[in-house]
Amino acid sequence: MNTQSFLIKYAEIGIKGKNRYMFEDALVKQIRFALKGVEGDFEVTKESGRIYVNALSAFEYDDVVAALKHVFGISAICPMVQVEDEGYDSLQVQVLQYLDQVYPEKNFSFKVNTRRANKQYPKTSEEINCDLGEAILSAYPGLSVDVHHPRVMLHVEIRTKVNLYSQVIPGPGGMPVGTNGRGMLLLSGGIDSPVAGYMIAKRGVVIEAVYFHAPPYTSDRAKEKVMDLARLVSRYAGPIRLHIVNFTEIQLYIYDQCPHEELTIIMRRYMMRIAEAIAKKQKCFSLITGESIGQVASQTVQSLAATNEVCTMPVFRPVIGFDKQEIVDIAEKIGTFETSIQPFEDCCTIFVAKHPVTKPNLNMIHRSEGKLAEKIDEMVKTALETTEVMVCQ
Ligand code: ATP
Ligand code: MG
Repeated sequence: MNTQSFLIKYAEIGIKGKNRYMFEDALVKQIRFALKGVEGDFEVTKESGRIYVNALSAFEYDDVVAALKHVFGISAICPMVQVEDEGYDSLQVQVLQYLDQVYPEKNFSFKVNTRRANKQYPKTSEEINCDLGEAILSAYPGLSVDVHHPRVMLHVEIRTKVNLYSQVIPGPGGMPVGTNGRGMLLLSGGIDSPVAGYMIAKRGVVIEAVYFHAPPYTSDRAKEKVMDLARLVSRYAGPIRLHIVNFTEIQLYIYDQCPHEELTIIMRRYMMRIAEAIAKKQKCFSLITGESIGQVASQTVQSLAATNEVCTMPVFRPVIGFDKQEIVDIAEKIGTFETSIQPFEDCCTIFVAKHPVTKPNLNMIHRSEGKLAEKIDEMVKTALETTEVMVCQ
């Protein structure tokens, strides 16, 4: 009697009315994808509002649980033992065997919770609860019944076969990736943007990413760090198409033509324009950044407004109201923090002015950008044409 199956619970997607099948199918697809990286053969099935993962070969329990913990849309993972329906007397034996195997120490409170999908079954759920409860108490006198706050809730589901489970491992929650369109993440090598990508992917959005690279001012190692971060986020979000834009010419041109205290704002406005152009081509419906109010000069409310002015797409900034520590906590939880803090230069830090404006005046910014008229369109075009694309997973 081994755990060969997992019952997958999903909360939010269960309430989606007619679209429910679409959400379930997306979840099944994401679970299959996540299990590809785990040794063993698995079957993922959908059956009247339930999703099951069945192992068809030997497998590492911990690896399967770890993989499933990365699939958005899963609210809980329940390791389950499925037994044949061999009649009511056998059920008691099967349940005792299950408890014996899963709980070597018999000193906890429990409650039996039976559900019958098979209404032909000779007993009602309530009768089964009582009978099984008594059988358990007499077999294992160290156990006690607690109907309000049991330590172990033993679920007995009588369907064509009988499902027994009592362990509930929390999943990541959210919605299955692929159920909410695509978004373009501006991914730098910092702490915040990978967290922003994770948070939006958690709501079911397929993530693409764009990175602005400024060789030779930023090294190949900085670029590899961004690729590493994309790979780490892809453990949750699925494969991420990463667009690497060569931003050097544009940055140097802005540096030559515009007042230095406005550099960061103007540079960020060009990043947004280019990101939006790529996003449109890739059929993304939104841009995503790791900005948080007040974190740096380019993230004051006035600076954010100035950056936002050039975008027509919605810009999602999921960490906008978070303190740095709150963002760090998520980065640690999702495993991006250690990579983010590796010390490689960022294209923003190299060209940064000593006293950047914190309350940019839009008229002045427009006037400064006017000084770029001669070459900037051609440079943006070249940057778009020479963008390198790769899939990170
Ligand atoms: P992060 O930790 O995400 O790097 P940050 O605090 O360093 O954030 P900024 O450098 O001001 O903040 O950047 C704000 C946002 O702009 C980033 O979260 C990211 O979405 C985007 N961004 C900044 N630099 C780049 C870059 N080189 N390529 C792509 N996106 C970038
Ligand atoms: Mg940064």
